[in-house]
Amino acid sequence: MDEHYLSPLFSPEGIAVFAGPPPARGAHSPQARALFEVLGSGGTEEPRYSDAVAFLDVHTSGTLADLAQTRADLAILALPHGELEAALEIAARIRCKSALILSSGIDADLARRLRQQARREGMALLGPNSLGFQRPHLKLNASALGPISRPGSLALVSQSGALSTAILDWAASNGVGFSTVVSLGAHSGLDVADVLDFLATDRHTQGIVCHLEGIGNARRFMSALRAAAHSKPVVVLKAGRKPGAQAAAATHSASIVGSDDVFDAALRRAGAVRVRSFVELFSAAQCLASRYRAVGPRLAVITNGGGPGVLAADAIQDRGMQLGRLSEATRAELATQLPAGASLAELVDLSEEASPVQYQLALKAAARDSQIDGVLVIHCPKAGTDSAGVAQTVAAELRNLRKPMLACWMGDAAVSAARQVFGQAQIPVFRAPEAAVGAFANIATFHINQQLLQQTPPPLSHLAKPDLDGARLVIEGVLAERRHVLTEMESKTLLAAFHIPVTPTVLARSSSEAVMIATQMGFPIALKIDSPDVVHKSDVQGVALGLTSATQVRDAFTQMMLRVQELLPQARLNGVTVQRMAPVSKKGGRLQAREVCVGLITDDPFGPVITFGAGGTMIELIDDHAMALPPLNQYLARRLIEQARVAETLGEWRGAEPADVQALEHILLRVSEMVCELPQLREMDLNPIIVSPDGAVAVDARIVVQAAPAAATHYGHLAILPYPTQLDQRWPLPGDDHFTIRPIRPDDAQMLQTLVKSLSSESRYFRFVSSMKELPPSMLARFTLIDYDREMALIAQHGDRVIGVSRYITNPDSHTCEFSLVVADDWGGRGIGSRLMMSLQEVARDKGLQEIVGIVLTQNGGMIRLMSKLGYSIKPFDEDPDFVLVSLAL
Ligand code: ADP
Ligand code: MG
Repeated sequence: MDEHYLSPLFSPEGIAVFAGPPPARGAHSPQARALFEVLGSGGTEEPRYSDAVAFLDVHTSGTLADLAQTRADLAILALPHGELEAALEIAARIRCKSALILSSGIDADLARRLRQQARREGMALLGPNSLGFQRPHLKLNASALGPISRPGSLALVSQSGALSTAILDWAASNGVGFSTVVSLGAHSGLDVADVLDFLATDRHTQGIVCHLEGIGNARRFMSALRAAAHSKPVVVLKAGRKPGAQAAAATHSASIVGSDDVFDAALRRAGAVRVRSFVELFSAAQCLASRYRAVGPRLAVITNGGGPGVLAADAIQDRGMQLGRLSEATRAELATQLPAGASLAELVDLSEEASPVQYQLALKAAARDSQIDGVLVIHCPKAGTDSAGVAQTVAAELRNLRKPMLACWMGDAAVSAARQVFGQAQIPVFRAPEAAVGAFANIATFHINQQLLQQTPPPLSHLAKPDLDGARLVIEGVLAERRHVLTEMESKTLLAAFHIPVTPTVLARSSSEAVMIATQMGFPIALKIDSPDVVHKSDVQGVALGLTSATQVRDAFTQMMLRVQELLPQARLNGVTVQRMAPVSKKGGRLQAREVCVGLITDDPFGPVITFGAGGTMIELIDDHAMALPPLNQYLARRLIEQARVAETLGEWRGAEPADVQALEHILLRVSEMVCELPQLREMDLNPIIVSPDGAVAVDARIVVQAAPAAATHYGHLAILPYPTQLDQRWPLPGDDHFTIRPIRPDDAQMLQTLVKSLSSESRYFRFVSSMKELPPSMLARFTLIDYDREMALIAQHGDRVIGVSRYITNPDSHTCEFSLVVADDWGGRGIGSRLMMSLQEVARDKGLQEIVGIVLTQNGGMIRLMSKLGYSIKPFDEDPDFVLVSLAL
């Protein structure tokens, strides 16, 4: 069934509280005392739970018979550290499915023991060191975070208790309500990923605000965040990280990349928005609470003062948004209704005389105009203007506006009445134009990142197959010599194995060898020093370009060896490599080539990250690097290129023709492929790649490798798993027909909805145990964007129809999984269901899962027959007689 494994924690039917004997309150921890105040306050605070809370005591817990009476999903423990393990034991005995430990100062050691105990008993554990959680719509305040907040659509997850308290305090005075508030604390059993995973499908939650200090498992985090951000906006506050261990980096790319940028790239890819300050978090929270939805980047500014308008326009540019301009037609129409001083070309400047009606007209115009995605209304008070009146008109207009609207009422006392108007209408109101623009930028970024989130690239491009064996041989050879840094020639060999264009490069150990190789290759020629001890060859005069004759090559060889030896007496010199000059075409006297850099770094915890930016010998100074997590597809590769500043030079630029961006995209796809298939890659620096109108070629390359851990699973090094194309299967049907089975993708959402709508109400009930007629957007999102790791869904497709879906989700114990199956009514009895189940079982077995289980309605005879035919054992389901439990050892 689709109940989340954290439902017993966040929506418990009954609660058992372990907080010691009530009379001795004075002796309790502050957490216990706070808890008594909220849970034990005679039922006034907790009407829903007044009958469902049992207070238990570790010492005087009475007989087992008493305990057996208590049915609780959730155990709340607020006890001295020494009593926690005993209490958790009792909680397990009364079969609590979840536990919350409200405490502080528990060390890593005890925390680990408690987590292990909970895991053994199959309990979800929030804490220890947690300040608990609140579920305002259930009137459940299982927290030491202060009074329960008002119900609302926002969820707050924080790793810091102090920050949660501050946010709740702010929310209380700004009319912002919450669906869920969770404070995790150090060493918690459940982590951010678990909570996000729950919030993704929680129907009370429309937006998520998340404060992070650190993350543990990158892949779990990424899949939970992607799942959540796929169905609702997620804003993440994270303070900047210190730059990683950069001194050790052996390539340009690795030395210029800060790990904080990686975090940005990961969030972007997950479809979430990052903010960097508490203030920004508040404004983002306010926008989310106002249920602003994804939009484009064009923000129109309606103002009665030019100055603040210009500030807003500047901020729009700084944040990479666009100023929304009214269309020609709208402008012409509006101009006739405004004062003579108004100007509409850029800002919608209504002039100082603007009246409420004129604000209204401008807003209506912006609402209609398809060139505008959002509206910022600025008002500067002036003697004689009716600030509150304008506010009222503007707030009233919100009802007709399908776009986000933000207000900026400048000043303080003069506009406090206006602020109240906005507060009541739930319109975010700011004091400074920059802050308002920042808030809008966060909404728009969410929209842009959503596109990135949808991408599920396959591991290998459909282009020519790479020479994997050749590549692995090179790496093994290097590792066998106990080296980690590949020479330029070895690096280029790896690239060539993946069909990345390189300038063929051959090592010469003497000047006569250099001459022979050069003559065979053909001039012009480049020579470069080959030494494991030289990172930047140009720095030691180890690069000679554009040599056009044998004599030049001979002389350059000798000089280069001497010079490098002088400059670096300790360096081991292998010789000099010989390569062709990349064709640097000149058209109309203009140099056509641009130099870019493609790199790879390995981040902890996100793993490999692909970088792109300006190239050449001075990239440290230019500091231009965009980043993306692999795997890439063409869409993501293009976005990565666009993100770098060097992208500006790739179009027509200073008289040069547009560069071949497609060739660059190909290289990025190939690099992504390398990264996916070769877990040994640690760092990579293709610098420069020379791009011209006729193609792209890597003229320098430096790759660093490390032995991959022996037990590593395929793609185990990636934070985002590639789409598993290898699972695609084709199955014949009578009459030359066939259907395919393949993993689900985000763009299958429509087909899946069509299937659900077409089901008979009985089939729908059998599958979802609910009378819903179609999948709500959040479930549709959840079902189609999966991580192919913890969760797998296979669809059976016939023509353009989905005719069946089988799915499993790994249980928190990580060795069993729960399946579900649905087949279109008109395809029943034709073997689709059993085929889908058998394929699914195979995937689960390959993932190392040991058992697959399902809960089936007792009335669903067809399914039960199918399951027993497939060898499943069928038992009654203890918790609910309407269901049976079916299971199969894998
Ligand atoms: P390093 O980065 O170690 O200093 P490179 O091999 O990148 O050395 O060479 C330095 C610069 O020389 C490059 O940025 C590029 O401008 C130019 N260059 C190097 N090899 C070639 C080549 N084969 N064809 C054209 N230009 C080249
Ligand atoms: Mg270089």
